[in-house]
Amino acid sequence: MQIIKELKKERTQVLKELLHLRETLKVEIDINFGEGDPELVERDRAISLIREQERKLDALDQALQRARQGAYGICERCGQPIDPARLEAVPDTTLCVNCKMISERQQRYSR
Ligand SMILES: [Zn+2]
Repeated sequence: MQIIKELKKERTQVLKELLHLRETLKVEIDINFGEGDPELVERDRAISLIREQERKLDALDQALQRARQGAYGICERCGQPIDPARLEAVPDTTLCVNCKMISERQQRYSR
């Protein structure tokens, strides 16, 4: 199935990026930081990037699992097919545009 290949490719990219980011952290962890040090800012940035990539990895894993079950492209919230154009733009999505908007709004309020 073509989509599984695509998702795996993307997953490999994310893993590579994560590895690279973790290396960045490892190098800088030996330095003694003071408040507002550029290294500290850099480190914070790397940490938030890692969180972002890990979320993406999770989403990709879910999408892969769904693809294997033949449920790829079905919104997991409302069960409607997801717009193919959206799938092409965001291959790891498990939500249709409407549900994505709703869940983003909920996330924003819960923060
Ligand atoms: Zn939906």
